[in-house]
This record gives sequence, C-alpha cells and structure tokens, in this order.
Amino acid sequence: MAKKLARKKSAVKKTTRSSGPGLGSPARKYVYFFGAGKADGDRTMKELLGGKGSGLAEMTNAGLPVPPGFTISTEACTLYYQQKRKVPAYVDKQMLENLAKLEKAAGAKLGDVRNPLLVSVRSGAKFSMPGMMDTILNLGLNDETVEGLKARTNNGRFAYDSYRRFIQMFGNVVLEIPKDAFEHTLEAVKEEKKAHLDTDLDEAALREVVRRYKTVVRDRARRDFPQDPLEQLRGSRDAVFRSWNNARAIEYRRIYEIPDAIGTAVNVQAMVFGNTGDKSATGVGFTRNPATGAKEFYGEFLVNAQGEDVVAGIRTPQPIAELEKVLPKAFGELRRITTRLEKHYHDVQDFEFTIQDERLYMLQTRNGKRTGYAAVIIATDLVDEKLISPKEAVLQVDPESISQLLAPVFDPNAWKALPVATKGLPASPGAASGQVVFTADHAVEWTRQGKSVILVRKETVPDDIHGMFVAQGILTATGGMTSHAAVVGRQMGKPSIVGAGKLEIAEAARTVLVDGQRIKEGDYISFDGLSGEVKIGQVATKPSEILQVIAGEMKPGASDIYKRFERLLSYADKFRRLGIRANADQPDQAETAYAFGARGIGLCRTEHMFFGEGRIPIVQRMILADNESDRRRALAELLPLQRADFYGVFKAMHGTPVTIRTIDPPLHEFLPKREDLMVEIARMEEQGKKGKVLDEKQTLLRRVEQLHEFNPMLGHRGVRLGITYPEITEMQTRAIIEAACQLAKEGTKCVPEIMIPLVGHVKELRDQKAVVDRVAAEVMTEQSCKIKYLVGTMIEIPRGAATADEIASEAEFFSFGTNDLTQLTFGFSRDDIGKFLGSYQDKKILDKDPFATIDTIGVGQLVEMGVQKGRKARPGLKLGICGEHGGDPSSIHFFEKAGLDYVSCSPYRVPVARLAAAQAALQVKVGD
Ligand code: ADP
Ligand code: MG
Ligand code: MG
Repeated sequence: MAKKLARKKSAVKKTTRSSGPGLGSPARKYVYFFGAGKADGDRTMKELLGGKGSGLAEMTNAGLPVPPGFTISTEACTLYYQQKRKVPAYVDKQMLENLAKLEKAAGAKLGDVRNPLLVSVRSGAKFSMPGMMDTILNLGLNDETVEGLKARTNNGRFAYDSYRRFIQMFGNVVLEIPKDAFEHTLEAVKEEKKAHLDTDLDEAALREVVRRYKTVVRDRARRDFPQDPLEQLRGSRDAVFRSWNNARAIEYRRIYEIPDAIGTAVNVQAMVFGNTGDKSATGVGFTRNPATGAKEFYGEFLVNAQGEDVVAGIRTPQPIAELEKVLPKAFGELRRITTRLEKHYHDVQDFEFTIQDERLYMLQTRNGKRTGYAAVIIATDLVDEKLISPKEAVLQVDPESISQLLAPVFDPNAWKALPVATKGLPASPGAASGQVVFTADHAVEWTRQGKSVILVRKETVPDDIHGMFVAQGILTATGGMTSHAAVVGRQMGKPSIVGAGKLEIAEAARTVLVDGQRIKEGDYISFDGLSGEVKIGQVATKPSEILQVIAGEMKPGASDIYKRFERLLSYADKFRRLGIRANADQPDQAETAYAFGARGIGLCRTEHMFFGEGRIPIVQRMILADNESDRRRALAELLPLQRADFYGVFKAMHGTPVTIRTIDPPLHEFLPKREDLMVEIARMEEQGKKGKVLDEKQTLLRRVEQLHEFNPMLGHRGVRLGITYPEITEMQTRAIIEAACQLAKEGTKCVPEIMIPLVGHVKELRDQKAVVDRVAAEVMTEQSCKIKYLVGTMIEIPRGAATADEIASEAEFFSFGTNDLTQLTFGFSRDDIGKFLGSYQDKKILDKDPFATIDTIGVGQLVEMGVQKGRKARPGLKLGICGEHGGDPSSIHFFEKAGLDYVSCSPYRVPVARLAAAQAALQVKVGD
C-alpha cells in the first residue's frame, strides 16, 4: 500500500474543485465509480463521497477485494433538497452511465432475468452516523429475477431469502411501512413452520413470506411492490437522501454538532452474499478493542446471514476468533487486510465484511470510534509500535473524550459488598449507578426531574438516542459488542453493558426479572462497564485512578493509565503555543490545577474566599457599615484571612503567574435574601420576640432593600465597587502584596497579576490602578521587600474592547472575560438563556450555546479587536481568556487564531485544554 500512500498528495487537488463547472451545472461530476482495482475517488474525498464512499474508493485503489459500484456525491443530495426533493435529470443521467459501467464490471445486468445484477443502496455522510440513515440490500430482485438468481446459484432458499429481505427493506425505507408489519408476518410464518431461527426456514416457507410481504405492501402502501429495477433504484436513492432528514438523524446531528447542510452520499454497490449457506458469513470488527484499547482482533460474525443481522440482535453473533475455526482461509485474509488497513490509515479500523462461499469481500472501513479510555491506550500503543508519531497521537485523540478518564469509579469495598446479579458484555467502561427506566422518553423525563437513570432495554434502536444521551448508563438484554447500544454507548463515553441475557424485561409491566429477582422501574441498579457485572442497589463511587494520582493518593508509577495519559499530554505540550492556566480560587484547587499541568492561574476570584467558614459575618459587617471607619474595621479582620488564602494559592503554583481579580459581584450576593428575611422577621414579631436579634434583622433588611437592584448584572459591581469603596481594593492589594513578600522571604518568587474587573472606560482603571500602586508601594516599604507585580484588566464590556487601545495605556495585561462579554454583546442574560435557547436552536437561529462555545463572528470580533488595539498601544501586552470558553476545544481553536498568550479554564478541564491547544496549533495559524 506504500505506493498508494504516495498518491495521496496528488489526489488533494481533486477535492479543491475550484475550477471546472459549478454546483448545479450538468457538466459537473456527481457520480464516482469504483471497481476493478481503480476508483475515481480516494480517502481525501470524504466531504464529497462520504466516509463510506471514500473508504470504498481507497480500498479499491489499494487492490483489496471490494465489490464494484459507484457513489452519488453529497452535492447531489444538496441539489435534491434545493430542487424540491427531486434529483436533477443530469445527475440521473450520470447515474445510468455509471450503472452501465457497473454492469460491465460485474458481468451481470440489472433486471436481466437470466443473470440479474443485484445491488445495495447505502447511505454515507462525511461523519459516520451509526444506524441513523438507511441502506437497502438485494435491489434488482423481482418475481422474475428471483427465479434467475435461483437457477444461477442452484439455491432457491437463498434466492427467496434475499427477495424477502429486499421487500422488507424497500417497504420500510422507501414506502415507509413500519418494520413491525414485516416482522410480525415473518414471526407468524416461523411459528407455523415451527422454525426457531430465520435460517430454519426453507425455500417453500420463504416463498410464503414473500407472498405475504407483498400483501403487506399492497395493504399499507396502497400499491404493488414495484417490479421495475430502475424504479426500485431511483426510489431507494431518493429515500436515502430523504433519510438525511429523518428525526433520529437530525437529533444525532444536534448531539454531535454535525452541520445539517452537508448531506449524505449514496453508494450503489454490487451485492455479495453472506446468506448462500454454511460457507458464507457476514460480520463487523475492529483492529483493536474500542472499549478498552487492548490490542486484540475484535468483532463478531454470523454464518449464513446478511447485512444488518449482526447488529440487529436477532441472532446472537459469534466472537470473531471463532471465524478462524469455521472459515480459516477467509479469516487469515481478513486479518492480513485489516492489519494493512490499520497501517495505511495510521489508526484503528472499524470494518465490515462478507464472505460468500469462502471468498472474502470488504464492504467498509473507517477509523474506529472509541472510548476516551481506549483512545489514550491506543494512541500511546501506536506510538510505541512506531505506527504513528507523537504528533499524530496528539491529533488522533478527541480532547473532549479524555475527560471520561476522570469520571468516578466504584468504591471497591462498596462494590464487593453486593452480589453479582448478572453479567453481560462489557461494551463501554465506567461505573454507572441509577434508577431503572425502560424507555428513552422516561430517561429524559426523569433526568429532567433531577434523577440519575439507567436505561434498560431489550436492545436499543436509533430512535432511543435522546434517552441514551441523558442516562448514566445503558444496559441491554440482547446484542453483541457491535450492537447499536454498544456502538453508541462507546461513542458517548457512556458506561454500557449489552447482551445481559439473563434479563427478562417486561416493558409493559415496567419490570425486569434478573435470575428470579424482580426489579421495578425506579429501583436502583449499578454496573461496571469494564467487567460487565451488574448489581442490584446503589453503589458509592470514588475518584478515578488519575484523580487519585493527582490528589497524591496513588503513586504515578502505580497507574498505567495515568502514565499514558501524562505521556500523551506531554506530547501535546510540545506542539502547543498557548499557555494553559486554571481558574482556581483556593489553594487546594490550585494544587489540583498544577498537578494537571496548569502553569499559572488565569482567574482567582477573591469573593469566593469571602464565603469561607466564619467569614460571611465579617463580610456582612463590612457591607452593613454606613461609614468608612466601621467598614475599615471589618476589612482589617478580613485582611489576614485573604492574605493566608493568597499565600496558599501562590505557594501551590510554584512561582508561576497568578491573576487575582478584585471583588466583582454585587454586594447583595453576600446578604440573605429579602424574602427570607421578611418571613423571619414576621415570624419573630408574631411570636412576640423583641430586642437585639430582631433589631439586627431589621437593620439587615433595610440594607438589603437599599442594595436591591433592578439589574444586578449591570449594577453596582466590578470596578464600580472599588471606585465607591476604595478601601476594599486597598485591603485586597495589601493582602496580595503581603502574601507575595512573605513567600519571597521564604525563597519563592511570584509575580501577582492584579486584575480589575468590568472596566469599560480607561479612567475607571486609572482610578483603581492608582490605589493599587499606592498601597503596593506602602507595603513594600513596610516589609523592605521588592515585588514585581502587574496591574491589568478584564475585557468583558464591549466598550472595553472598543477602546482597548486607551485601556492598554494603563493595563499591563488583558484577560478576556468571555462570559460577561457574551452576555453583554448578545444582551442575553447567562442565567436566563435556558428559557429560549432551545427555540433558538430549533429554529436554527443559533447552532450552539454561545456561553459554551464562543460566537466567533460577533463576540469573537470584539476579542480580535481587543487584541489588535491592545497590542498596538502596548507591544508585549499579555493576553489571556478566563471565561468558560477557555476549556472548550472549538473555542480554543479560535483563541489560537486570535493570537492570545494563554487560556484559563477550570482545573478539571486543564488536560482537555492542553490537548485542544496542541491540536489548534497544529491545525490553524495565528491570524488565520
Ligand atoms: P450502515 O451505514 O448502517 O453500516 P451499510 O451501508 O454499511 O449501513 O450497510 C449495512 C450492511 O449491509 C453492511 O455492513 C453489509 O453487511 C451489508 N451490505 C451493504 N452493501 C452490501 C453489498 N454490496 N453486499 C453485501 N452486503 C452489503
Ligand atoms: Mg456499515
Ligand atoms: Mg465578569
């Protein structure tokens, strides 16, 4: 395949099709052929051909055994929707031309009674969406060609089995007849014939199934099953385009943030048959275990079966290792080919294959989805095996997924204390504990009520996706390691166990019987997705191995996963440009952040310290003071406490920079709620209580009423507090500089960065900076100690961004406060957006929550403006961001482009940010 790798570069040109006829022009190429060792497309063309189409093309080019076919591009899908759900005639024409080519390559003709070509019509978008869209097999069969197939293969059972499958799939997908209608019919015939499995039905029985299926079609669709193969083909093609917009596909795209506009391709491919008898089979697999990352050939197959049988959970598939015994030659070839594919794609492959009369055919390959846990193991293994470079390892792992490694595990003692109720296949690791629900809708409903649920199903179907998304874990009674529940569970990083065969679920009665024990909806169960063990009851959890190492409770060397995790992140550190800091308010948080690799604090919120034990009464006294000297007295009490906090944070950060924000929230946040006070006072009065306590409460109420604001978020907060009460800024500055002096005397140098929040006008900052500088100088003289410190500001008010040049004349650094900046730019209250964000997303006004992922166009423009104006006025101005967006991978891409110096995020997001920053540096450039 080395030869093929070299082709990669030249092929890039094909995707940048800037020249040539534009979209909608009949002269443009919409259909891409693959067959006989050569394909029009290749691996670089996922956007145009979808993942499946590009994989089929690449495998064809590599000389692998792939049945020939052609791919109708995603652009045709776009045109289909643009032209009121009609495929343009010129696309149809290209399809017929390619069909002729396919007939030649396959040596058979669509609709030819003696030698019929059968094809599959397969969906496939750029991003894989397991089971969300539709596929139709055995197309081309009708009452006549089925006889031709029988005669040619001398296998009537096979011919009629194929035909009944085709009617079933076509009926469901194209004619939109519910699946049950066919399934009930099949079950009825099986019962009549006393057949246990589908494979027990003989030709006569299958003929009967076909006859009844045709009646189902006539009754439900009010038309006859179409006999014309071209009509079948066009209908199926259009149905696949339509399936791009079925409800579950839309929901899936919403969850995974896949754009709606990209559309799906359609692959039309000559059929090969895994259902011709005992020398045939069909299966799916992975080159490594996608749940644990272990280097083992992994997958499942069924003898004498076709297509979706393996994933559908109707028959229980066999583990792939068994294939070596059943069909050794094909197994050997499958191992050779998939090992080659892994080398070729530099990644784990998820493949689909069919064996027809001992001959192996590859039907699909793609980079395998995996859990975050497996991703880290696989990436480090592949580096060790010299299959990929550290850079590729960094690019291979989804940053978001590694947060799964921090998820809690069961407390081993609590876990051991319960007996194992049953065991299933460990499809996706993790500890799950919660209340049993039996439907996806209940999972959503109960989660909304604040409950933790485990979704228990016989098997999951793509329509369950919303329930799977919210559940703590997924448990199914049937299905294998590649069933829908397993695939989706792994992808979501959700603990999942499948095929726990001892579960007898009575969905209607909302109970499940486990080995004689009855569990009702709402009862607690727990399971371990790594071992497959299920227990009845709730089990306490404890921190994961990585968190134990971070907390110093476990030696780094004792944890394999920690060592790999840290190795991957240290690769990332080599490639990233952005510094990573953490938002941490207290010494213990700072220690965690440092242990995770943060080198600096980007935001230390001093007000959180005010909530510390025994402090709130002092803070309240400060707020209640109606004169400066009382206020100073209360502040003097707070001083040693704040100093100790700062000392602790500085020390935990080992001399790396620490940005401390002066007091920010409106003062009433530190006082009791008005309504609560009123109730309390009324009660005391009613009970006839008098005296000091009541008087104090009444004073407090008066002050609370005084402090009441109509728009606290736009009220007396941030820099405005320091301007009215400079003694607060004085106290905080003193605490910071005294702490730094103390540490300096002990031999640790630290550079405090004092940050004034909510500045919109340079004069606000000038006012506060004067206070800071004056007090800092005083303290340094008192302590005979020189400390280097910086004074800067948050840029979080649009006016601050607009006048960043003026502000930079005073500020030595900026930190973009993207939470407030988003709030003030959109005019959306962060605390109220939940009320309307859903409608905005449904109506596609907004794709994403702008508080989670930065709005690059609007809010981002203000950031860019702040960067440019700020740096122009003060070259070398330090620039960071400390909003929630600092830990969000796609926002980090934006901050890389904007040229910030660092991002700051919560301590637990630091690993994600390290990896995302490295990917950003490798994928985009500053100034892009
Ligand atoms: P999905 O995207 O849901 O996996 P596919 O298009 O891959 O759908 O089709 C599902 C299954 O159908 C494949 O794994 C394969 O077993 C079977 N299949 C599809 N096309 C063919 C074909 N040309 N010959 C034989 N089996 C096929
Ligand atoms: Mg597939
Ligand atoms: Mg703010």
